[in-house]
Amino acid sequence: MAKRSVSILLPAYNEASGIKHFLDQELSPTLKNLPYNFNLIIVNDGSTDDTLAEIKSSSVIKQFQTTIISFTKNFGKEISMSAGLKYSGKTAAVIMLDCDGQHPVSAISKMLAKWENGAKIVTAIDLHKRTKHKLGSKLFYKMMRLTNSPGIHEGAMDFRLLDRSVVTEFNRFTEHNRITRGLIDWLGFPQEYIKVSTLKRASGTPTYSTKKLAALALDSFVSMSTTPLIFFGYVGIFITLVSLPLGLFILIEQYILGDPLGLDWSGAVAMSLLISFLVGLVLISQSITALYISHIHAEAKNRPLYVIDHSKSSNLKGA
Ligand code: UDP
Ligand code: MG
Repeated sequence: MAKRSVSILLPAYNEASGIKHFLDQELSPTLKNLPYNFNLIIVNDGSTDDTLAEIKSSSVIKQFQTTIISFTKNFGKEISMSAGLKYSGKTAAVIMLDCDGQHPVSAISKMLAKWENGAKIVTAIDLHKRTKHKLGSKLFYKMMRLTNSPGIHEGAMDFRLLDRSVVTEFNRFTEHNRITRGLIDWLGFPQEYIKVSTLKRASGTPTYSTKKLAALALDSFVSMSTTPLIFFGYVGIFITLVSLPLGLFILIEQYILGDPLGLDWSGAVAMSLLISFLVGLVLISQSITALYISHIHAEAKNRPLYVIDHSKSSNLKGA
């Protein structure tokens, strides 16, 4: 039987210090032992160091059909993965993983086995949750689960296998503010999971700062759910339900019955409390609405998702 073809998608940003070692010493030996026709897609996400030269000097270029997509500047990992999926040709599946050595290549064969058994999406779950943003990521998953976003699995990584049918659907997304994981989950295909132990970064430094991650978390929250809007609607209902009887109580107790309890409410106090509370509420709901409007604004501009530097890319076949 002819070997099935599988793409390996690797986003790379300033990984000069370790990418060659990863490609030659980790990825290549693993892939060579597996009975598939592997096709590498390496997205050089506007690296400012020698990442591109390191990729081109790696021996994988000769061993596997390799496509290099080189962006004109740094567009971010999420966009890199989208570009890689667009240019993944017609391979039967795509496996995406980081090239900093943190995603264990040994899991690739397990993913393929699940895929052979019919899985459309195989997602790696981080056993150790080896992230320096433990609290932040916990909070993020909690928030996402509280919202109506479909089945986000805690510890689910970007390390995934997607069947071609999933990639085809994914490539139909047109939005710019995109979190790959969230969009894949949104497609609704059943997922299978494998547990992996993420490794320490082999070299270099992670480029996702806390600030960048927080922005990403906020973005995905806003782009994946309308719960904040609904939530503040509930807060509004709650406040009305509380303030109405309280207001009626003051009205009846003080002004109709003549203050039999001797509470002596000052009208100014009651009013100013009520007003400042409502102003706060309006401000919060307004800022949430503004967030949504900012997203609409970003989408309305409809800029190209990425720009490829064709002089540095190779093997690109239309997408
Ligand atoms: N990456 C990218 N573009 C970026 C930032 C990162 O393509 O703007 C790549 C990076 O080279 C690595 C992967 O995305 O292969 C994960 O990045 P990193 O290790 O910095 O993040 P973390 O491991 O903290 O998720
Ligand atoms: Mg990393």
